[in-house]
Amino acid sequence: LRRNAGELEFHQAVREVLESLGRVIAKHPRYLENALIERICEPERQIIFRVPWVDDQGRVQINRGFRVQFNSALGPYKGGIRFHPSVNVGIIKFLGFEQTFKNALTGMPIGGGKGGSDFNPRGRSEGEIMRFCQSFMTELHRHIGEYTDVPAGDIGVGGREIGYMFGQYKRLTNRYEAGVLTGKALFYGGSRARTEATGYGNTYFVQSMLATKGQSFDGRNVVVSGSGNVAVYTVEKVQSFGGKVLAISDSSGYIVDENGIDLKLLKEIKEVRRARISDYLRAKGEGKGVYFVKADSGSIWDVPCDVAMPSATQNELTGADAKTLVKNGLVALGEGANMPCTPEAIRIFQEAGVLFAPGKAANAGGVATSALEMQQNASRDSWTFEQTEARLAVIMKNIHDTCAGTADEYGAPGDYVLGANIAGFVKVAQAMDALGVI
Ligand code: NDP
Repeated sequence: LRRNAGELEFHQAVREVLESLGRVIAKHPRYLENALIERICEPERQIIFRVPWVDDQGRVQINRGFRVQFNSALGPYKGGIRFHPSVNVGIIKFLGFEQTFKNALTGMPIGGGKGGSDFNPRGRSEGEIMRFCQSFMTELHRHIGEYTDVPAGDIGVGGREIGYMFGQYKRLTNRYEAGVLTGKALFYGGSRARTEATGYGNTYFVQSMLATKGQSFDGRNVVVSGSGNVAVYTVEKVQSFGGKVLAISDSSGYIVDENGIDLKLLKEIKEVRRARISDYLRAKGEGKGVYFVKADSGSIWDVPCDVAMPSATQNELTGADAKTLVKNGLVALGEGANMPCTPEAIRIFQEAGVLFAPGKAANAGGVATSALEMQQNASRDSWTFEQTEARLAVIMKNIHDTCAGTADEYGAPGDYVLGANIAGFVKVAQAMDALGVI
């Protein structure tokens, strides 16, 4: 704690994993040797850098850039880049730590890392976004590469930003190294189904959990928080499985549509116009079962639902929200975002018998499909949407079964948190053990 003073989210993520390890250490005491656990909690490398850029008024702006290369025992560091004003080293470390176990759970040869900046893209022009991305990559390019570290998108970083960063990487290195970044557009080396993968993957995971109880999404009321990349494609997949999505949000508030969210309109607002979610009400008109609640007037988790899919940001769902959801009859929850539920919320869900899918398992479909993008780049191939989605579905089923099986093996049936933490830990720990004291 002293070494990582003030990094609250990092403490939270580490504590959750360590709390799950008692049973695995009782069975395999060798994991206590050679400071293995201490090494797993310490990033291999942390890079913090200045990002200067010029805004549209000609003023010089300064932001701080980060790349935390957490663990490369299983493969090159892999994990997204986040642009959000809340970004600091503690947030990037928590994300990199989670990513290490998530990537291990996919069964693919990828280590864990994460990066970002406290840059706020909201309200910035195209030119400002491009100049920022170029400046960010001017430093980052020294530290990444197809065999070293392969970043992708995250909050505030989508296909547009990946394009500007890839362009600058190519220009600085004079190499067309397609596998250096994932989340690229299709016409220059991206993978089909990558955009959809995290939301689809979380939906597949929850579907597998529901199936263990003989249930499904069909006819269920669902609430999805956020309205970014993960949220939009969660809505799409849930609807295709027969679920009705009643509410979505952004940081200004939430929209309820009692008829079920209109996916076409949602995509138009968020992906084409890059506008606010309150525009949904403007487009639909008042008094047709559609209303907007401002963020300071209520929580999206007040909307009664059978399945909750938090897909915005860390600690967005509190203990009080969890109590409300349980009271309203929640059956299952899949974490689309990273660590969206507070530890108290998780405890409440588990005590109430809610099927709970932790992010490091449930949202692993994004990074798994990024690894499929790396495979396609390496073989200079391009797969169909159907082929790629079929791979994603198999990967998510395997992750589900691994978590459920590990929970059973360690005497905690149905505890997907414990299952994910132990299964991810064992994969990383075995590899580190084999590689000596590194
Ligand atoms: P986007 O930037 O596309 O969307 C983020 C959404 O969450 C927006 O609607 C945003 O609203 C909202 N949001 C962000 N921060 C806050 C906040 N502090 N309070 C309230 N709402 C907030 O990001 P993604 O959809 O890519 O990522 C969402 C989550 O999923 C993150 O936790 C990310 O780490 C995780 N994730 C993403 C993956 C991916 O493939 N993209 C893979 C695995 C996990 P607003 O526009 O108002 O800020």
